[in-house]
Amino acid sequence: MGADPRSAAILETLTHTIYNIFNDRFAVESVMKSLVEQLAAALGPDGVLQGAAALEARDAAQTRGLRVDLGTPLAVLKPRSTEEVARILTLVHAAGQPVVPWGGCTGLVDGSAADGALALSLERMNAIEQIDETNRVMRVQAGCILQNACEAADARGLLLPLDLGARGSASIGGVIATNAGGNRVLRWGMTRDMVLGLEAVLADGTVISSLNTLIKNNAGYDLKQLFIGAEGTLGVVTRAVLRLRPRPLSENVALLAVDAFAHLPRLLARLERELAGSLSSFEVMWESFYRLVTTAPALGRAVLAHGHPFYVLVETRGVSVQADAERFENVLAEALEAGEVADAVIAKSDLERRAMWNLRDDVPQVTRDGPVAAFDVSLKIEDMPGYLHEVHQSLKARWGAACRFVVWGHLGDGNLHVMVGLPEESAQMHEAIEALVYEPLGRRAGASISGEHGIGLQKRRYLSLSRSPEEIALMRTLKQALDPRNILNPGKILTETI
Ligand code: ZN
Repeated sequence: MGADPRSAAILETLTHTIYNIFNDRFAVESVMKSLVEQLAAALGPDGVLQGAAALEARDAAQTRGLRVDLGTPLAVLKPRSTEEVARILTLVHAAGQPVVPWGGCTGLVDGSAADGALALSLERMNAIEQIDETNRVMRVQAGCILQNACEAADARGLLLPLDLGARGSASIGGVIATNAGGNRVLRWGMTRDMVLGLEAVLADGTVISSLNTLIKNNAGYDLKQLFIGAEGTLGVVTRAVLRLRPRPLSENVALLAVDAFAHLPRLLARLERELAGSLSSFEVMWESFYRLVTTAPALGRAVLAHGHPFYVLVETRGVSVQADAERFENVLAEALEAGEVADAVIAKSDLERRAMWNLRDDVPQVTRDGPVAAFDVSLKIEDMPGYLHEVHQSLKARWGAACRFVVWGHLGDGNLHVMVGLPEESAQMHEAIEALVYEPLGRRAGASISGEHGIGLQKRRYLSLSRSPEEIALMRTLKQALDPRNILNPGKILTETI
């Protein structure tokens, strides 16, 4: 029996296809092998971690965050200098290989996810290079841990006022890339407000050294702003000049109980007006949060009795220990008299101040009863009660009491943290809850899907609720201009790649 000519043709096509697939795969593998060899030559053998060593570095980074999934990076690169970062980007740019910058990896939106990419860890670039007391600035490398920078400033009688829960593992490069906010934005602003100058490496390896130390400098475009809050998609931050403040001499902290939401903006306005600009935090805990952090297994104690709908942690930082304490007490007494505050406890020692802050910082408690979806929305203070009521009602209507609902946040900045307990852990459940939390935000003018955590991978599909088509188009224009090969943290912030 002779061979069917059609079968022979099909067989030949198939053989060619299989051959080509193997060939392509071999070509990709050999390009990657040669790229890794070039990187190892540039960084030295301890500068490129592969295989088990890369996974070990990934695991160490992952344990620092609350809910972090970094994926499986092809390799972890550990440069020691800006020059080495530039060398890395020159090589990966030529190869068209995606690269994901890693700071402390404590972000909450999968901005450091590096599955199938090269991870570029800045952890060895952790030096505090200079503290200039006269001009009140410090210059640090991107891998410097936030707390170390704060302590170095403190030791020189100065204050770096950025404060957030992940202070012990977040890096300066990471807080810049995410424009981190935290607990004292009300007084000193977000990270953006503390950055005077930056050094960043562009996708093609070009070093942009813009280490300005002046508070006033309007010589053309303010280029550092391109990299602050860009989540590593436009360049890799390698150094920063940070603005410092004189270290305050007094610190007063109180925990207040408030019985109606309408009292909160009035209380905030009173404290801002009467405390001579010294108010540094106005952190509100809804009862749902306060109860969690003051009942076992949480270690915190209920400084004020349960049963009030709101608890406010108020902090002032000022210049006179005696006078500031008196003023603080007087203003709180007035607020009590006016009925804005139902009950109050003023911390009388560092230990008591710390205990009150520990309640607010004990965010991990919100995950103790099962899987959660966490949000950091921003909206006008007058829109908050209506918004929260709408979200809570729709969650209850759909899933009943199984949907735990916990709220706390930086009310002075309009930024709320909302945690929803998941009746079951699944991607569909996450998506359904996201829709219920985000869609009512889209109906409120000026609201944001992210007050401080950023977009990363997790919030991309909702970006259009907070940004107009023209704004998103301009973001794409910037990405295209600065990273035309789409190698820098690709797929973060914007959904479609270029
Ligand atoms: Zn926060």
